[in-house]
Amino acid sequence: MAATPESPQSSILVIYTGGTAGMAYNKRGELVPMNFEQIRRKMPELRQLNMLVEVVNLGEPIDSSNVTTADWLRMAALIAEKYDQYDGFVVLHGTDTMAYSAAALSFLLENLGKTVVFTGAQVPVGGIRTDARRNLVTALEMAAARHPMAKTVRVPEVCLFFNDLLIRGNRAKKVESQQYDAFRSENYPPLAQAGIELAFHDRHIRLLPAGKLCVHQRLDERVALIRLFPGLSERVLRAQLELDDLRGCVLETYGSGNAPTTPWFLQCLREASDRGVVLFNVSQCEEGRVLQGRYETSAYLSDLGIVGGDDITVEAAITKLMFVLGLDLGPAQSRRLMAQDLRGEITLL
Ligand code: ASP
Repeated sequence: MAATPESPQSSILVIYTGGTAGMAYNKRGELVPMNFEQIRRKMPELRQLNMLVEVVNLGEPIDSSNVTTADWLRMAALIAEKYDQYDGFVVLHGTDTMAYSAAALSFLLENLGKTVVFTGAQVPVGGIRTDARRNLVTALEMAAARHPMAKTVRVPEVCLFFNDLLIRGNRAKKVESQQYDAFRSENYPPLAQAGIELAFHDRHIRLLPAGKLCVHQRLDERVALIRLFPGLSERVLRAQLELDDLRGCVLETYGSGNAPTTPWFLQCLREASDRGVVLFNVSQCEEGRVLQGRYETSAYLSDLGIVGGDDITVEAAITKLMFVLGLDLGPAQSRRLMAQDLRGEITLL
């Protein structure tokens, strides 16, 4: 299904996955996803854009709380299949897990030379005060953006547009469920801002890759995410770290990457690490970074083989772990890759 102006300047593929943007109320008064044809009827402005906008459904539209790693692999495969046909891509997605999906896609799409923008809305497209129209129209413009002189792709990245900010996908975090500014860029400046004009912050945007697009097709789900809290018991920690086939675990620690120094706690981590489980240390703080060794309470972590996550978000950490483990490189090499900046997800000091 397409919106076709006479001489379109660019062509964008919208991958429709579901989410509030495309939802309507059912008879019980609950929001449920509708199909894109219904959305398009409510958005005549799509025809005003000087671009060819084609739409493909990823599957039955879903609330993004139901998104799976298989969906991420399908999104990546679809972008690979259509890569040469379109100038850019917009993924219309629910906000709840959008930051996870955008981060996952950033890892799966290596050497991305086109723009992939995730967007969605807080209020359905049929609502009078909907933000779906503005978000989708601006995301389409961002996806089609070129450098004014060179005409090369302006944002060769997986990113997320919401309200007025274009954010690197693997730096995004949903921070708000009631207001329109639902996302924030963590530990990295936004890539662009939409005011009356679109203002791109080119020096924060990744350069066009030298190599060809490489689309990865494996994510390892044998991972866990453990958030530390005072009172976490040995029984509960062991129940997770001793899972038979566990291959990786993100530990959400305190402050600049600190954790208890209690002997049983250290012993649990040591045993997991010795079994080849890749442990990745991410801070519960939204700003700042993990600095293993700054305090005594984190000094031993590096000796146990635990990788410091620097300033990565939890969403990017867990998807990076799935991606790196999916490469099947063995624990030592996986630990090395986890410490590297693969797609702009961490700022190394
Ligand atoms: N529950 C919805 C979803 O993530 C929320 C939204 O789209 O804003 O699909």
